[in-house]
Amino acid sequence: MMEYDMVIIGGGPAGLAAAISAKEEGIEDILILERDSQLGGILNQCIHNGFGLHTFKEELTGPEYSHRYIKKVLDMKISYKLNTMVIGLDSDKIITAVNGEDGILEIKAKAIILAMGCRERPRGALNIPGSRCAGIFTAGTAQKFVNVEGYMPGKEVIVLGSGDIGLIMARRMTLEGAKVKAVVELMPYSSGLKRNIVQCLDDFDIPLKLSHTVIDIKGKDRLEGVTIAKVDKNRKPVKGTEEYISCDTLLLSVGLIPENELSRNADVKLSKVTNGPVVNESLETNIEGIFACGNVLHVHDLVDNVSIESHMAGKNAAKYIKGMNFKNKKDAIIVEAVDGARYTVPKFINPDNIDKFVEIRFRVGNVFKNKAIAIYFDDSRELKLKKRILTPGEMEQVRITRAMLDKYPRCKKITIKVEEE
Ligand SMILES: Cc1cc2nc3c(=O)[nH]c(=O)nc-3n(C[C@H](O)[C@H](O)[C@H](O)COP(=O)(O)OP(=O)(O)OC[C@H]3O[C@@H](n4cnc5c(N)ncnc54)[C@H](O)[C@@H]3O)c2cc1C
Repeated sequence: MMEYDMVIIGGGPAGLAAAISAKEEGIEDILILERDSQLGGILNQCIHNGFGLHTFKEELTGPEYSHRYIKKVLDMKISYKLNTMVIGLDSDKIITAVNGEDGILEIKAKAIILAMGCRERPRGALNIPGSRCAGIFTAGTAQKFVNVEGYMPGKEVIVLGSGDIGLIMARRMTLEGAKVKAVVELMPYSSGLKRNIVQCLDDFDIPLKLSHTVIDIKGKDRLEGVTIAKVDKNRKPVKGTEEYISCDTLLLSVGLIPENELSRNADVKLSKVTNGPVVNESLETNIEGIFACGNVLHVHDLVDNVSIESHMAGKNAAKYIKGMNFKNKKDAIIVEAVDGARYTVPKFINPDNIDKFVEIRFRVGNVFKNKAIAIYFDDSRELKLKKRILTPGEMEQVRITRAMLDKYPRCKKITIKVEEE
């Protein structure tokens, strides 16, 4: 069995940033395992710009952003294995991986960082009736065809789902000469970033049909058209509102699922809301020495936040290897999201582990205008931040400082909620 101080599963932006910070902390013996044929993760197929505005104060494309991290990993001589799929992980931190050169690998690590990212929800998860014809793709698959392989999936397109990937692909298909007839969204709001709605739909006159869904798919061999309909507040189609739109391509952008099958096998506790591991302030899971960051932890909209979070995971995993214990103690504070807030990462804060501050990241469950985010330490409201708009598509974050924790030394629960202004 091979042995490493630290093994990072996934060589996307999260895995790369974690590896760099662990090495900066003095950990020499690091191995990144990546199933793809190159490092960089999903960013390799995101050739649009808009990455790195916070980290580098520049507008980079996805590959440019990840290249900066890949270069650093190479410069720092961090080891990695490509085309290597991790197929097993247990709570004793033993990894089973497979590749064409080594066959089956068994690797024991002192610390593991989960950085496996997300996958897209497929058609099977939606139960749309209709025929099983060709021409139905997830938006990310279509993105790979267009941006990496150089194939156009179709000419007349409907996009179902208005998350960022759907919005970006509506623009991409248009730029490549397709006619995008509509982006259809079940909810009364888009779950994508505002800037993507403006730059990807409004600028190209692509209609966004909110509170609508696809109720039928027509086509024998190839897709010929879809029927869409308005939905009521219970998301049920409204009779009489059906509209048939001819198209040869349906792109599905209906949510991402954090890739946590390995985590589950290792008895890592998962959140029912995020589908990612439940972590404490140090991004450590319930299994000592297993940390998580990036999209496998919770879906991020900005890669800059992935890099910041993963940098912290790498740093903490390095400290763990050097003997620090981050395990939840008796006085760990529970962080709860209520009244409009859906979840928080982290879920626990051990005050002793906080040097200057800890960022709490969360999403709201609805669109709120002119409200405030309030933070309570038990029953005392410590902070109220006015917000002109809060939407489920944009991740929010608040900072819990050392001074706040010192002010409430017996605090048992920190609560995040949406309140009147
Ligand atoms: C279409 C699209 C558009 C986006 N646009 C923007 C934007 O404009 N601006 C922005 O800031 N952010 C954007 N993002 C978000 C950003 O790209 C992600 O937040 C970021 O890539 C997440 O990084 P990650 O490392 O967690 O996951 P990923 O990039 O998905 O990397 C995970 C890696 O883990 C590997 N892996 C998974 N399982 C295994 C296994 N079992 N064994 C080995 N390897 C494994 C995968 O192959 C992959 O390389 C966009 C994302 C998408 C999909």
